Amino acid sequence: MTTKKSVLETNDQLDYDLVVVGCGIAGLSAAVLAQQNGIRVAIIERATKDERGGNTRYTESYWRMKSRDSVSDDFEEQLISNSGGYPDPEITKDVLRSYENWPPILKSLSFTDPDLISTISSEAPNALQWLETFGIKFDFLPNYFINESTTRMAPIGGGLALVEALATFAETGPGDVTIHYETTAKSLIHNNNGGIIGVNAVGKGNKPLKILGKGVVLASGGFEGNPEMASHYLGPKALYIRPVARGGYYNRGEGIRMALEAGGAPAGDYGSFHAQPIDPRSGEQEPIVLIYTYGILVNKFAERFIDEAPTTVDASYESRTRAIMQQPEGIAYAILDGRLDDIPNWQKSVRSDIPPIIADTISDLASQMDLDADNLSRTINSFNKSCPDPAKFDPIQADGLSTRGLKPIKSNWARALDRPPFRAWPIIAANCFTFGGIKVNNNSQVVNMDGEAIPGLYAAGEVVGLYYRNYPGSTSVMRGAVTGRLAALDFVRRHNQ
Ligand SMILES: Cc1cc2nc3c(=O)[nH]c(=O)nc-3n(C[C@H](O)[C@H](O)[C@H](O)COP(=O)(O)OP(=O)(O)OC[C@H]3O[C@@H](n4cnc5c(N)ncnc54)[C@H](O)[C@@H]3O)c2cc1C
Repeated sequence: MTTKKSVLETNDQLDYDLVVVGCGIAGLSAAVLAQQNGIRVAIIERATKDERGGNTRYTESYWRMKSRDSVSDDFEEQLISNSGGYPDPEITKDVLRSYENWPPILKSLSFTDPDLISTISSEAPNALQWLETFGIKFDFLPNYFINESTTRMAPIGGGLALVEALATFAETGPGDVTIHYETTAKSLIHNNNGGIIGVNAVGKGNKPLKILGKGVVLASGGFEGNPEMASHYLGPKALYIRPVARGGYYNRGEGIRMALEAGGAPAGDYGSFHAQPIDPRSGEQEPIVLIYTYGILVNKFAERFIDEAPTTVDASYESRTRAIMQQPEGIAYAILDGRLDDIPNWQKSVRSDIPPIIADTISDLASQMDLDADNLSRTINSFNKSCPDPAKFDPIQADGLSTRGLKPIKSNWARALDRPPFRAWPIIAANCFTFGGIKVNNNSQVVNMDGEAIPGLYAAGEVVGLYYRNYPGSTSVMRGAVTGRLAALDFVRRHNQ
């Protein structure tokens, strides 16, 4: 199904100026900004109109900002400190030169370059304020963290409001945009000069379609919805993870594959992903269980395996969740007791619609979870013995109430679990989005293995490889809006030359 047809069209070939793959925040930002600059745009979207928007459709869309005009104070420091494994200082020393003078191996290096970080940082307010021109309002909205380490803003109505505002403008606003729904981009079309001029796609019934332009923006998300790529890059434990919301199932990695096949340099941590702790029993979107920081986590052997609370929950849940994935069968259980009710409004950090397993005794709790009751009692007894005087317990900040002499330590909120009712939630890792993607420069042009921009090829959003180690939360929608806009601006500049 398509809307608004005004382009040169033959049976199986369509001609536009710019072809955008994907209808989330990244693709829509690119398409609509190009539209506003008089560019004829095709958006290729795998989903139906009702389900358009990928992950963006399901996110509340927090942005790591301290105001409409500025990113959070820790924004650049967080991205820099998670910009790679151990980047080679002999290679990265040249970041001090201007970008034109970087050697090719640095331009194509898999690390988050400081230039791109500062571009995202300075462009985020422009992107936010541009989105406001479509009737979106950003504010400091409540979220599901009981304690947190940074500042966040979000659009009222979340990502869905962003998708609907931009897609409606694309389809009904001035200019020339056609959205091809239920159409999946499969491969890139090259010209004889090393440039990219379109995509081969398939529509309903696997019908092939050539969509031509003078440039392509790949904005089709990561590979969280592709079990083959997930297993290949994340390892066999990927069997136990699933997309955190329905939109992720549409993101099957074709954009990343297309860019790699065209010679694009890989960037972002291919072996990792943004992990969220969810209740596997729930079919809700993003059914997170973040309350475990006030209790303990045990695996199928009823053993603790990690410090549940090294710091505030927003800054530590991702690494805890990856550790859950590594446990037998990729599952753990959060165990809490009656003291949970001391924590005001704890319910906001559990979004599963399935009630916890509840019991008056540890052995009953264990049998309901199919865990060994003796092992669970032993684990809880030794945890309880190591807990300090709870008088200084403070759920709102990292309170330093840590276990003594216990391995692994629990660094905060360590209070004995001895007051019925006992409660347990199963937790698995959900894949919010994958980290592995494509290297881009400051114009969101795809950089090839030799450090050069591939003419006509852009990447935006999750297709851009940006993250390593720990995901600095609330930066991915922002990444999508900024890189989509950068791609459009560069395309417009070249188109008008
Ligand atoms: C529940 C949830 C909560 C989140 N919370 C936050 C948050 O608070 N803050 C934050 O910054 N991030 C958050 N994220 C992550 C963030 O929403 C995404 O990373 C971001 O929106 C991705 O934008 P995108 O445009 O790159 O991809 P998407 O929004 O996923 O869009 C990709 C689009 O491409 C389409 N597509 C895929 N493959 C093809 C193909 N081959 N051909 C044609 N079309 C294709 C898909 O159907 C989809 O419409 C959250 C994600 C989820 C799911």
